[in-house]
Amino acid sequence: MEIQDIQAIQLLLSTPKKIAIIPHRGPDGDAMGSTLGLYHFLLKNNHQAVVVSPNEFPDFLAWMPGTETVKIYEKDKKNCTRILEEAEVIFTLDFNALHRTGEMENVLTKLKVPIIMIDHHQKPDDYATYTYSDTSFGSTCEMLYNFILFLGKKEDIDKTIGTCIYTGILTDSGSFRFPKTTGTTHRIIAELIDLGVENTEIPNLLFDNSSFGRLQLLGRALQNMKVLTAHKTAYTTLTQDELNSFDYVKGDTEGIVNYGLSIKGIVFTAIFIENKDENIIKISFRSQGDFDVNQFSRDHFGGGGHRNAAGGKSAVSMEETIQKFEALVTELSL
Ligand code: 5GP
Ligand code: MN
Repeated sequence: MEIQDIQAIQLLLSTPKKIAIIPHRGPDGDAMGSTLGLYHFLLKNNHQAVVVSPNEFPDFLAWMPGTETVKIYEKDKKNCTRILEEAEVIFTLDFNALHRTGEMENVLTKLKVPIIMIDHHQKPDDYATYTYSDTSFGSTCEMLYNFILFLGKKEDIDKTIGTCIYTGILTDSGSFRFPKTTGTTHRIIAELIDLGVENTEIPNLLFDNSSFGRLQLLGRALQNMKVLTAHKTAYTTLTQDELNSFDYVKGDTEGIVNYGLSIKGIVFTAIFIENKDENIIKISFRSQGDFDVNQFSRDHFGGGGHRNAAGGKSAVSMEETIQKFEALVTELSL
């Protein structure tokens, strides 16, 4: 961040303010970790802060400190609109374009107060007053840690804030495996552990808390997998009926996409998940190495993300979506 921006934000936060903190729609561990971490930091600095999520967060994150205070825009539009309109400062975390908040975008675009973006996705829009955007980071939570340091407030990072930051770094780095995990990432993690952050308990809460239905859903996704060996690609699908038959709850499909990459020689993988409520197929893409799934998703599936992890959607049927995908894959030279 530019020094002038840091000074301007320090000034802005030097007196108590009403602050709304916003993650992207379909918030993941990094979106919830960064917004809740910032929430606890702002409370500690005498602000009136509230996290307003565009829609519900997944069950497997419900244990995180402060989730009971999170307002859900799509469940309570009137109250959330009022909170957003009364806010004196807005933080948008872990996304790069206002449309990633879904319908909430209509409220956000009308606001006149300073907006601060902290994010690690490619090609950020320029809606924010202050933009801290850097794609070299593996998570927004690692950037939040830096942001608090920029403000000269490192001493404020306690076990609660650290727990939130740890969670986002852990989930967005694939448990410290993805290429953007650096020595600095591990040094931050070490400091957080020294603050008392429970580095065994948190992965347990995140990853060892599934229902039997979730495991069976994973089984179905693995059985549905198609491997296009010549194109180094594997993909799978889950229909709404399949989700229903395994008592799907939000978050149950998290991480399933990655299994395709565990097959020897596969460098590109995708999962297509039918959502009958929204009448779309939600897609996740993952790659290993140079193939840029962010660009692939932007070009063909109205989405985006990072080079090796991106999302998108399709408004046509599962069959048509798969046909389009397979046709595109056969054109790729992977
Ligand atoms: P996931 O596949 O886990 O939903 O998302 C992978 C990455 O791509 C995350 O960083 C997520 O924020 C981003 N992403 C997911 N869906 C979309 C989308 O529809 N548009 C854009 N721009 N990014 C997305
Ligand atoms: Mn993230």
